[in-house]
Amino acid sequence: MTAASLLEVTDLRTTFHTPRGDVTAVDGVSLTLRAGETLGVVGESGSGKSVLGRSLMGLIGQGPTTTISGRVTLAGHDVHALPARERRRLWGPTVAMVFQDPMTSLNPVKKIGTHLVEALRLHLRLDRKAARERSVDLLRQVGIPEPARRLDQYPHELSGGMRQRVVIAMALACDPKLLIADEPTTALDVTVQKQILDLLARLARERQMAIILVSHDLGAVAGRTDRVAVMYAGRVVETSRTLEVFTRPIHPYSEALLASIPRLDAAPHTRLRTIEGRPPDLVSPPPGCRFAPRCTRAEDVCRTEAPRLRGPRPAAPRHTAACHLPPAATAHEED
Ligand code: SF4
Repeated sequence: MTAASLLEVTDLRTTFHTPRGDVTAVDGVSLTLRAGETLGVVGESGSGKSVLGRSLMGLIGQGPTTTISGRVTLAGHDVHALPARERRRLWGPTVAMVFQDPMTSLNPVKKIGTHLVEALRLHLRLDRKAARERSVDLLRQVGIPEPARRLDQYPHELSGGMRQRVVIAMALACDPKLLIADEPTTALDVTVQKQILDLLARLARERQMAIILVSHDLGAVAGRTDRVAVMYAGRVVETSRTLEVFTRPIHPYSEALLASIPRLDAAPHTRLRTIEGRPPDLVSPPPGCRFAPRCTRAEDVCRTEAPRLRGPRPAAPRHTAACHLPPAATAHEED
């Protein structure tokens, strides 16, 4: 682990033992994240991105139905080697998570203030008055108007966007070094989605906090993350600086995801592009490249050999993709 890296993941595998067979939902993922860096993890439903987020945080533990191998080192701690009690101590000051639906994080019969004050008293050992003052400050930081009044309201009295802001405030309460936001806007209206994503990007900048933004929507991570990792069927198939993936994608799956983003400048009635086919059943994935059954570039080698992540462009060696047949580098890129 380098001095500046906050998170280092090496060959992480999370396997669920189901009645139908083993499902390796995260299959050999390696990545690093520096302090203050933002990473977007994108892919379709079932690509393993949410399981990855939970595995990084240590929310999924070893047990009779689950096996985790590989290593996750977070702020110097080997997350999966820690006893459960020690691991829980990381939640709050080191890593926090925001989930898709704010109502899963909020107790409907407790006031907003109770959620925040309880967390602050537990983790920071503040007295009730100091915890209430800090709660008001946190609500203000996440853009909630009249924060003192909101403390005395119940979750159902707030809109979906306001509830997600409260959940973000709860996640920020202990000043985490890393925030994992798992589809934080999927349950919200489109206009509110943008506000929440912009809020997360602003908080990351202001607090020098690293963020992993998990999303099925490439558009959500555009302009808001430093780097992106594209996942397909449990594996990272492409990773680089976000701009690089958006402007010069290597993997056909990334290309297809980009092509399926609706464009405002498209002619009226232009059909939305979709990716034909379905992701593979992870109980019995295809033997070679897992994207081969859906890939328009697939050749024989793709169906027999699993491609490894590599950087085919000399000008951008950290732009890696798992594809046997990457597009040829242009003369301009080779310069
Ligand atoms: Fe397509 Fe082959 Fe590349 Fe897989 S390895 S993405 S099938 S070209």
